[in-house]
Amino acid sequence: MAIDALQSFQGLFLLFAFLFGITVGSFCNVCIGRWPSGESVIKPRSRCPKCMNAIAWYDNIPLVSWLILGAKCRHCAQPISVVYPVVEALTGLLFTLTFWRFGFSAATPVYMLFCASMVIVTFQDLADWTIPNEITFPGIPFGVLLALAGTAWGEASGLRVTDVTDSLLGVLLGGGILFLLDRITVYLLKKPGMGFGDVKLLAMVGAFLGWQGALGTLVIASFIGSFAGIAVILYFKLRGETTDGNDGKEKQDQEGGDPEENITLQGHYLPFGPYLAVGALIFMFVGPELIDYYFSFLEPSGGIVLMNDLTDFGF
Ligand SMILES: [Zn+2]
Repeated sequence: MAIDALQSFQGLFLLFAFLFGITVGSFCNVCIGRWPSGESVIKPRSRCPKCMNAIAWYDNIPLVSWLILGAKCRHCAQPISVVYPVVEALTGLLFTLTFWRFGFSAATPVYMLFCASMVIVTFQDLADWTIPNEITFPGIPFGVLLALAGTAWGEASGLRVTDVTDSLLGVLLGGGILFLLDRITVYLLKKPGMGFGDVKLLAMVGAFLGWQGALGTLVIASFIGSFAGIAVILYFKLRGETTDGNDGKEKQDQEGGDPEENITLQGHYLPFGPYLAVGALIFMFVGPELIDYYFSFLEPSGGIVLMNDLTDFGF
């Protein structure tokens, strides 16, 4: 009976977490839209970017309004990007997962904030090719201060890092590796580096998740990045083959296209922020488990440990 009651409450709290998440996601959209041009995220009220009419509160309800309006502005009927509801739904989902994973602990609000930050980083880097200093500048000292609080609160806080030294090492290692990589690319390979946005981002991840978190995030991000890179190359190859046989003129147009566009397609700039953000979130949710799993293969009894793990899950 008591457990049933608790479970029904759990469901209610998960629902609250989702509703809170989509509301914060709505604010994330404002940040993504305004930070690149240096506008305030508080004033003025939300406006349609096409016709500049103010958006009424009833047309500004996360997820719901986009669906009711049929993805069109009420005033000018121009389409509203699907990115808005995607950002809201994603933030809602991440907040739900955070509460589900960390429950009633100090870690939950902290990691909800971290999730929202990673959502903003991802979508601003995709849209504008910048990682907001508005996130990373306060994020680095905040992560370190949090680890300092974690040192006092201990394991009960649910925080990944309960040791300020670990957090500081994370800043140095995360920022250091990418800083070196950037300098090597610029001076030795004579190519533009990955950008300081990424350096500051991984330093911030290190502040929140420690040195293992910074390293783990980089490994996961590189994995996802390589798979995505291969997928993009395959996509262009397949598309190239189909346009090849069709029309010679189309190919000529492509070759004579905007030189700047060609440079970006050749990997002149590598938008690494989204991969780092996804890597950081994966580490935040299941990092210690991933590390245990990885090292279970290196132990002599690795196979047995793995079998025990699987039987725990009912396999
Ligand atoms: Zn409009």
